[in-house]
Amino acid sequence: MANAAQVQRMSRLMIKTLREDPADAETASHKLLVRAGYVRRSSAGIWTWLPLGMKVLENVSRVVREEMDAIGGQEVLLPALLPKEPYETSGRWEEYGDLLFRLKDRKGADYLLGPTHEEIFTLTVKDQCTSYKDLPVILYQIQIKYRDEARPRSGVLRGREFHMKDSYSFDTTDEGLAQSYALHRQAYQRIFERLGLDYRIVSAVSGAMGGSASEEFLAPAAAGEDTFVDCPACDYAANTEAVTVKVEPVDGAGHGPVEELDTPDTPTIETLAEFLGVPASATLKNLLVKVDGEIVAVGVPGDREVDMGKLGEHLAPATVELVTAEDFVDHPELVRGYVGPQGLAGKAFKYIADPRVASGTAWVTGANKEGKHARNVVAGRDFEVDQYLDVVVVEPGDPCPKCGTGLKIDRAIEIGHIFQLGRKYADAFELDVLGQNGKPERVTMGSYGIGVSRAVAALAEQTHDEKGLCWPREIAPADVHVVAAGKAKQTELALSVGEQLGAAGLRVLVDDRAGVSPGVKFTDAELLGVPTIVVAGRRAGEGIVEVKDRRTGEREELTVEEAVARLS
Ligand code: ATP
Ligand code: MG
Ligand code: MG
Ligand code: MG
Repeated sequence: MANAAQVQRMSRLMIKTLREDPADAETASHKLLVRAGYVRRSSAGIWTWLPLGMKVLENVSRVVREEMDAIGGQEVLLPALLPKEPYETSGRWEEYGDLLFRLKDRKGADYLLGPTHEEIFTLTVKDQCTSYKDLPVILYQIQIKYRDEARPRSGVLRGREFHMKDSYSFDTTDEGLAQSYALHRQAYQRIFERLGLDYRIVSAVSGAMGGSASEEFLAPAAAGEDTFVDCPACDYAANTEAVTVKVEPVDGAGHGPVEELDTPDTPTIETLAEFLGVPASATLKNLLVKVDGEIVAVGVPGDREVDMGKLGEHLAPATVELVTAEDFVDHPELVRGYVGPQGLAGKAFKYIADPRVASGTAWVTGANKEGKHARNVVAGRDFEVDQYLDVVVVEPGDPCPKCGTGLKIDRAIEIGHIFQLGRKYADAFELDVLGQNGKPERVTMGSYGIGVSRAVAALAEQTHDEKGLCWPREIAPADVHVVAAGKAKQTELALSVGEQLGAAGLRVLVDDRAGVSPGVKFTDAELLGVPTIVVAGRRAGEGIVEVKDRRTGEREELTVEEAVARLS
């Protein structure tokens, strides 16, 4: 019996593919998801999911749901529109800064659009669970999140409105939390394997969530905005935000007294280059120096590259000193100006505290207010004016902190993040349950996120080829894409094949569009990226179709019966 719902005729599908890349698109996923008609930009960082995109998004959500259910997660849906008070209680109304979308209701009360939901889940459990017998509990939702990202770019990879699976675990003991965390870790491994994503689990910093242990799931891809080190010899892998390796700091920068440029009255490019320890032909990014005691950015406004030639013009005849990290404690706006509100201050310091480093990855370590080692720091927020800072530069080949082998450094997309929050939110909201002995016990929590919409883009990044998207079957909008390449005879056969495949339980897209040339249909089929393409073409009269593997390009002529048997 044909299952009509499984067969989608393209003549009735709302889809408009594009031959040209969108002008502002830099990454493959952005270009291809738009060109293939999966998503359309609504406004900066805000996206419409069109029918095929919706199918892919739903497939990712389904995998996530199944694996969350498998570890005992219970699905709920909390509001996205939230009152300010809980976020004031946790301190995040302030802490999130410009990242938060804030709004007022008609009475003037403050609201926000949820960037993540620790506060509200804590309150939900406080309302629902009163005894240790009610725990442990794992709650999750798949929901839209809002973050006013400084640089929403790369299409749905970094949206200002995006889809996230977030879950939260509630336990009474540390062992319980460790167990809930381990369950999530395993569920995430299964999810990303099923999605067909190549990924690494790396140590991470817990950032705005607070808490202790935290790991990220990173999908290696050039388009990624995260950098991680990976040891080829042991299991050590870490986001550079969280690396604990220490290598020798470059002389001078960020250390002790400010170095003074010992030059003649008019420094030349050569003397400056020598001072900076770079070739005179070098291009430096965001070079900041002090000229007569004033911090100045040398370069063309809006241009992040500074060439030594332009630099020379700014310097004569003045006293030039290297800017140190300490200088920026008084000028956090300069740090933010270069890095963005939530960005890696460490990256800025690479250029600021140590302008001699023209490449590689660097970050700042130092003592924060509690005397702990701080990473991903923002001057003024995370450390005091008089605190000493180290600039640590990690380059490929630096020793692994575990085994000493040379590290690899790669770019990746953060697709998931798991945290052991501990009692931070339970303390803030006084979340207790009655223990076995009748006394209240403070609950301990974990929080776990997956970027569901980002995973779609990450998959596109990792699996596309020069012809277009190329989905793994589990995630593809259909199993088979049947192309009617010709006239009535071909269309008839294509629809019949489609129906038979549908009846066999496959999800089928049939390109039965009239007045569209076979060439355009083939190009669209490659662009759309369904894993198997079946063509009813030249030999349709004999009941013969061509079955083609989208990824390998392997093709074979088969009778309709053979094709249906092969594919189902
Ligand atoms: P990033 O470092 O990329 O900004 P994050 O660390 O701020 O992400 P988390 O708070 O850990 O993100 O959120 C959980 C997950 O939500 C992330 O691992 C990521 O997959 C996804 N995510 C976060 N921000 C965005 C965004 N702006 N667009 C799409 N997905 C996002
Ligand atoms: Mg972020
Ligand atoms: Mg992150
Ligand atoms: Mg994260």
